[in-house]
Amino acid sequence: MIEYSDWKISARGTAEPQVTESLFAQSNGYLGARASFLVDGALPHERCAYLAGGFEYIAPGVTDMVNLPDLFHVTWKLGERVSIDRSLNLFDGLYTREAVYRDTDGRETAVTLKRFISMSDKHVAGLSVELTALNYDGETELTMELDGSTVNLPVHDDQTVENLETVALLTVAEAYKRGNVRFLRAESKSFAVEMTAVITGGLALRLERGKPSRVEKLIFTNAAPYDTDFNTAFKLSAEAWAKRWETSDIQIDANIETQTALRYNIFQLMQNRPFDDPSVSIGARGLTHSRYKGCYFWDTDIFLLPFYISTDPNAARNLIKFRLDNLGGARANAKALNLSGARYPWMCSVGGREQCHTWDVGRSEVHITADVAYAADNYVNVTGDKSLNVAQLYAETARYWASRFSYDARKDVYNLLFIKGPDEYCGVSANNAFTVFMARHNLQLAIDANPSHPEVGKWREIIAKSRVIYDDGRQLYIQDEDFLRLEPFPGRISDDGSAAYHEYEFDRLQRYKILKQADLVHLIVLLPELFDNEEKRAIWDCYEPLTLHDSSLSWGIHALAAAKLGLKDSAYVYFERALTLDLSNRMKNTGSEGIHIGTAGSVWQTVVFGFAGLDAKNGALSPQLPEGWRGMRFSFFKSGKRYRAEITSAGHSVTEVEE
Ligand code: BGC
Repeated sequence: MIEYSDWKISARGTAEPQVTESLFAQSNGYLGARASFLVDGALPHERCAYLAGGFEYIAPGVTDMVNLPDLFHVTWKLGERVSIDRSLNLFDGLYTREAVYRDTDGRETAVTLKRFISMSDKHVAGLSVELTALNYDGETELTMELDGSTVNLPVHDDQTVENLETVALLTVAEAYKRGNVRFLRAESKSFAVEMTAVITGGLALRLERGKPSRVEKLIFTNAAPYDTDFNTAFKLSAEAWAKRWETSDIQIDANIETQTALRYNIFQLMQNRPFDDPSVSIGARGLTHSRYKGCYFWDTDIFLLPFYISTDPNAARNLIKFRLDNLGGARANAKALNLSGARYPWMCSVGGREQCHTWDVGRSEVHITADVAYAADNYVNVTGDKSLNVAQLYAETARYWASRFSYDARKDVYNLLFIKGPDEYCGVSANNAFTVFMARHNLQLAIDANPSHPEVGKWREIIAKSRVIYDDGRQLYIQDEDFLRLEPFPGRISDDGSAAYHEYEFDRLQRYKILKQADLVHLIVLLPELFDNEEKRAIWDCYEPLTLHDSSLSWGIHALAAAKLGLKDSAYVYFERALTLDLSNRMKNTGSEGIHIGTAGSVWQTVVFGFAGLDAKNGALSPQLPEGWRGMRFSFFKSGKRYRAEITSAGHSVTEVEE
């Protein structure tokens, strides 16, 4: 359905409208909007725009991401739509929608709608509508409003309190129309937004056959309007995009589809980056949808952060700062669970309190806390930035682990009971190896950063006396204490993204020996120094065939792990699936749930850490490009300096870029 050209993706016709609304969604990391318009019949809950951090409480302690008033509202009366083509320019962020309408008298009008959300001034967005009468002269009129009738999208959610009804979270507190200016203030209990739209060109149009007439709408969100026009504001935005691409682009000498699809994944990482703001993070669908009520997961720390560390260290710093600033919430989470220290929430919105309300995931998927510590350490190691108080984060999270491990005096061991790892199909088990190793890593970080802390002795003891299961004969780490007891899976392990949880009830599913997503296979990528080559290979050989990839996070990590293991063919198969997960709607939920931005992060990691073999900490390359890729160029930051990496068939080089 999607066509690829240089720096551009396009879709012809009306197939899968929801999917294109997600794929063509735009954002600047402050404001994001799906590509859905009233003129295409989009309902009030389908015309979606969001502000980063724009949450409201829908029940005590439970938040949802607020759907904003429709700031891109426009209507016209030109008859039936007879054709529609849409495209997104990845280089400058411009969305273009070209349609032809025919009325009952056979009069045909071409309408070109362009939209941008500014990458230079986060408060600015623009819409331009150009009408051309194709076979007549006549008059017509447009309307352009700020439409406060939008409501929140009902998302069937398996991890939060159900929200199946459309809800009007906002009420219009003030709205007026003065000449070509529209103003709207909408509020809820703890959220408010103000928008001003300035229209130029006049809404009543005299159309002359073949001569385009244009109307523009510049929208200012939470800021006073100023004198500008669509072209000027767009040019500034395009310049800001170009500057970002200088540090973020990856050029590959391969076919145009792969190159453009790769740029599309990078584009999503760029446009959903919080706009210089440490008070917000990145939701599992960025600002393209309110799936998971906009919450932030380990996706940000583990899947996205490496991209920002290497291409935009300031954005990475803000994401770490976000976690540091939410230590208060993490402390409150630990306390609410009768534990000590700081426990990061599986799902996070405002204030750092747990938003996940299912026991088996919200209480048991405890690795998130160690993931946050891992991410902070990763940031510090690559950037060399010593200005953040990560030592405190390590100490408080270590205190949490010390209270979460259970001491078994009979055997003199520490167990992690009632937990699950990234594989959410394994039931609630004990001593999941991923979690135990990541927790030990967290404890070690705390010891190294706080050597005279009074609890260091306890932390050392837990590292020494915690346990995972290891099969000596097979040199194989076992995922957790129940894994070997699970039943063989009678179903089909498909590769088309159709999730098993649609077919099997969870209670049944979690007693089968199958994995939802990479678990130990992920760990060999995160902490490779823990395993020798035989152990890594044994992990791959055991768990990869059992993995259903029912999480969008799975294919990319398998691609990266395979590349690291030198399994070139598997690496490319998994890479291609992850690369086009959204573009080909492989999981069949891109339309209904938005862009899987964590996948985009794993695609970037596969290309840079897997195929180019970049060691982010020392800047060395060890390339193994896929078949058919003749070369590759990209840049990366390390210790405050930028480097250019170049890989050709003749060799590879890394050179410092003089800024
Ligand atoms: C995955 C989690 C992930 C979450 C948000 C779930 O389906 O199993 O690992 O964090 O989606 O992307």
